[in-house]
Amino acid sequence: MRYHGEMVCLFTFFFTMLFPMVLTAQERFETDVIKTSAGDLEITFIGHGTLMLNLGGKIIHIDPWTRLADYSKVPKADLILLTHEHRDHLDLKAIEILRAEKTDVVLTQTCSSQVNDGIVMNNGDVRVVKGLTLEAVPAYNIVHMRSKGVPFHPKGAGNGYVITLGDKRVYVAGDTENTPEMTLLTDIDIAFLPMNLPYTMTPEMVASATKAFKPKILYPYHYGETDTSIIEELLKDLEQTEVRIRKMK
Ligand code: ZN
Ligand code: ZN
Repeated sequence: MRYHGEMVCLFTFFFTMLFPMVLTAQERFETDVIKTSAGDLEITFIGHGTLMLNLGGKIIHIDPWTRLADYSKVPKADLILLTHEHRDHLDLKAIEILRAEKTDVVLTQTCSSQVNDGIVMNNGDVRVVKGLTLEAVPAYNIVHMRSKGVPFHPKGAGNGYVITLGDKRVYVAGDTENTPEMTLLTDIDIAFLPMNLPYTMTPEMVASATKAFKPKILYPYHYGETDTSIIEELLKDLEQTEVRIRKMK
């Protein structure tokens, strides 16, 4: 019995001492795995407008934000994508932690005044970075205004990105409404569309955009307090698109 008692004691020791260390930030987040011709794409849903993609060990951080994750415990970036300069999207501390010698940072002109040595993409630009084709899609408001005539996100400043990963095209929209440029997108497999108010889209706007460009999978993201059951209801009859709700408040 004494032996057994020691085992229990040892177990308790290892559990209390080691468990906090092995519980990495990544393990607390939901993940989905999507098959691509370049291997499995693992999507980690960090929260709000923040994602981590892992394609066969190639790590892409999108709008990393230290308020949501302990970035000292996630893999460093091969590529960081920044959609715009608002503080929930551009966090210098997160970039500092994730950036290594190998890291490329793709950003907007406005972000580039705060981040050194980034690769600036303007709306409409197409570039190959780290072997991945990136397309910068305009992200802006048409209806929702900060004050009269001043949109929360003015046209030209922000990017969404279409990232080609093997045979899959992933669209991360950034903070935007359902713009004409968005509705003209084609062959999108996975779309992340923002749905918090008043800064981005209503569920009705998200539904309208989704019906226009018909991504195979829609993840509403950056949705704050918006009721996600509304978008599920609005799109329940759209056969081409599967709506997936993840923890992306
Ligand atoms: Zn914003
Ligand atoms: Zn935002």
